[in-house]
Amino acid sequence: MTWRATVFTLFPAMFPGPLALSLAGRALAERAWALETVDIRDFARDKHRSVDDTPFGGGPGMVLRPDVLAAALDSTADSGRPTLLMTPRGTPLDQARVRRLAEGPGVRLVCGRFEGIDQRVVEARAIEEVSIGDVVLSGGEPAALALLDAAVRLLPGTVGQAASHAEESFAGGDWGGLLEYPHYTRPQVFEGRTVPEVLLSGDHARIRAWRRQQAEELTRARRPDLWARRAGAH
Ligand code: SAM
Repeated sequence: MTWRATVFTLFPAMFPGPLALSLAGRALAERAWALETVDIRDFARDKHRSVDDTPFGGGPGMVLRPDVLAAALDSTADSGRPTLLMTPRGTPLDQARVRRLAEGPGVRLVCGRFEGIDQRVVEARAIEEVSIGDVVLSGGEPAALALLDAAVRLLPGTVGQAASHAEESFAGGDWGGLLEYPHYTRPQVFEGRTVPEVLLSGDHARIRAWRRQQAEELTRARRPDLWARRAGAH
């Protein structure tokens, strides 16, 4: 069955956007996955087609109305797919969550705008809140594009060599949540900088040990949180 994504947005023209190109675009053209957008504004109830209103309790900005969003969500079947709201307040997205999403039937993504969306629709439709990091975007669409990009590259047949997944950053298994080691290619000397000698040695055991050590040093220095989690898991 085709992996299906439905995106609920006020800006359907942002899709497929970058996902029409490169690996995700090829997979989309080959129907390895399917993408549909639902324009939330189509479910507005007044003649001005308004979708937002001022927050109860006061404060700046506007809030997406729960009745309008619920009508949009109810217009398409979830078919067993989880519904995720992109929000800086959500659980940080990680590779393990993306992997589970890629293994399922697909996903429904809600893109917020303005100050956010009314909390009651999040509860009423059992929506999972997900963040792509501790930054504030102007809308959920770039976050949805990032999530879809990450999921689609894991779909069967999308990335030719499965091995290229095994050692990349946040991989499970043997590399247990390490950041990836640095890469080098031709030319052998670039602006006076040479390539680490071990990579030219042809000694695969030494190369593997060097890469492993680099991955461990990088993880310890840049992501003490990942390093600590790893230490706890091993
Ligand atoms: N008032 C909100 C807050 O302080 O948490 C920020 C709202 S933001 C300007 C508008 C929309 O962008 C959000 O509803 C959400 O859909 C999306 N967004 C912003 N940052 C995001 C992030 N880090 N991850 C996922 N979605 C994000």
